[in-house]
Amino acid sequence: MSTAGNSPKTAAGAPEAAPASNFLKNVIDHDLALPEYAARPWAGKPGPASVHTGAKADPARIRLRFPPEPNGYLHVGHAKAICVNFGLAEEYAGACHMRFDDTNPEKETEEFANSILDAVRWLGFGWTHFGDDNLYYASDYFEFMYSAAEFLIQAGLAYVDEQTPDEMRANRGTLTQPGQNSPYRERPASESLARFRAMRAGELPDGAAVLRAKIDMASPNMNMRDPAIYRIKRAHHIRTGDAWCIYPMYTFAHPIEDALERITHSFCTLEFEDQRPFYDWLLGNLARDHELPDGKRLQALLGHPLPKQVEFARLNLSYVITSKRKLQQLVSDGRVSGWDDPRMPTIVGLRRRGFTPSAIRLFCQRIGVSKSDSWIDYSVLEGALRDDLDPKAHRAVAVLDPVQLILDNVPDDWSDTCSAPVHPHHEDWGTRQFTIGKRLWIEAEDFMEDPPKKFFRLFPGNRVRLRYGYVIECTGCDKDEHGKVTAVHAQVFLDSKSGTPGADTYKVKGNLHWVDQATAVPARVRLYDRLFSDEHPDSSGKNFLDSLNPDSLTEVRAWLETGMSDVKAGDIYQFERHGYFVADLKDSAPGKLVFNRAVTLKDSWSK
Ligand code: ATP
Ligand code: MG
Repeated sequence: MSTAGNSPKTAAGAPEAAPASNFLKNVIDHDLALPEYAARPWAGKPGPASVHTGAKADPARIRLRFPPEPNGYLHVGHAKAICVNFGLAEEYAGACHMRFDDTNPEKETEEFANSILDAVRWLGFGWTHFGDDNLYYASDYFEFMYSAAEFLIQAGLAYVDEQTPDEMRANRGTLTQPGQNSPYRERPASESLARFRAMRAGELPDGAAVLRAKIDMASPNMNMRDPAIYRIKRAHHIRTGDAWCIYPMYTFAHPIEDALERITHSFCTLEFEDQRPFYDWLLGNLARDHELPDGKRLQALLGHPLPKQVEFARLNLSYVITSKRKLQQLVSDGRVSGWDDPRMPTIVGLRRRGFTPSAIRLFCQRIGVSKSDSWIDYSVLEGALRDDLDPKAHRAVAVLDPVQLILDNVPDDWSDTCSAPVHPHHEDWGTRQFTIGKRLWIEAEDFMEDPPKKFFRLFPGNRVRLRYGYVIECTGCDKDEHGKVTAVHAQVFLDSKSGTPGADTYKVKGNLHWVDQATAVPARVRLYDRLFSDEHPDSSGKNFLDSLNPDSLTEVRAWLETGMSDVKAGDIYQFERHGYFVADLKDSAPGKLVFNRAVTLKDSWSK
């Protein structure tokens, strides 16, 4: 049986929603009309002005980057950033760099780095453009960053501060009070240079000094009050080992990474808005010449045009947390089975849950990119998945809460074959065959001994059609000593088979799904509910662990239609009436099927 795979291709017929608004495109369109962007040189690899000056014009119309820190698995929020950056690069015939922002040695691992590359590839993006393999590591720029720091010191724009951390905090001021200048602020550049070199050489203990930019301790923007740009930290780095005992601060490193890679637009989330003045201050100063007091001239390190930071709203999804630290806690506390637990909003979790790359891309397209923060309802994510899967998922029948149905008027060995379309809108995909016999499984909820009005399924005396099979009339049921129904009895009308001339003579309102006990395939099926019962589990100081939903996972023993035994892990089906299900990537194997419900057929989330 051919099955609908969990493949990265957008299948024909997948819905293309009208793209939501994206103000970043206005920014790009505006900039591309400026002459300086047309003539940008690109040497084919990152580097300072000396590398790029005189190089050929950049074949990429824009250069963007996706810069995760390899300190966790990517989540649905990162998917938005990936779609924004790689997506816009694709749309504008540009390039998007895959860059590891690995300047903070402590929590970064190879496992995380590999998982990030897998996630980006799985979403259908790549980083090779115009023949360049644009996979970069910020740690490869440590030597340049160090020289940029010396440059600032020589230009009188940075100093080594040896106040204690407490003094530094006290002198920083508050939102309403200006800060106080450090007593080290006016030390001669030569002295700062010597101390900075001593920091690098490992002559000072951790925390004994920091290098600070010299800007303005009275600035209303706290980030401009002489921010720290280098600190001493004896920590082993996954790529540079023990070569360094000083590491650049993120706010210093990031703009430099962008400039070395000739990024045109550095798109980031809104919380970096207050960092933009420092971003521009830093790059502006590194990209110009400086006259020194002794008459010497410092030559600009970086070339124009400089990258431009533009902020957009991060993705906030209701009932979901998107903080790597908190997700890490769910994993390490054993609240979920791992980073790829199908309840996790990580890309590996979504993938195991049954999300396809095209569904996630459709979701990102629908939410658009805006300049102000808002919450997106979880139903938007699920809606994208439904709309993506509906035209491509093969259909199958599964009974999730089985009770037996016995057709009393046929012999024990009675058997027939029924058929149904693989997909109701793709006749060319053919049909599936399954058997029917005397003993079937139906959903327990499809029978009621004493039903309310408008119940059109099975109850004594009522007729229904067994979908793709025969019309039956219910005659009663068996019950155990607790009153629980153990079997439903019916008579089958053998001249009523679907697709035969007799079928039309029976008029029934109910149409039930069922599987044949003789050939049904057993499976474990995991049904998921939201992981948190609070719409905003971690907002305004709440402890997100308090709202963990204890019933977020239920596992049932189900029966699947004939022929489902050779399902491969990752295959996705619509189980009629129940929703979309994926054969679990980790636990499912032929003969030992495990399915995850990706999403129900109808929205049960939105209010
Ligand atoms: P966390 O704060 O959970 O550790 P992070 O945002 O700091 O995550 P990074 O590895 O620095 O993680 O993120 C890489 C990129 O993804 C950044 O450019 C960041 O702005 C973006 N990003 C992270 N979370 C979101 C989100 N919820 N919505 C949109 N973009 C996001
Ligand atoms: Mg970060």
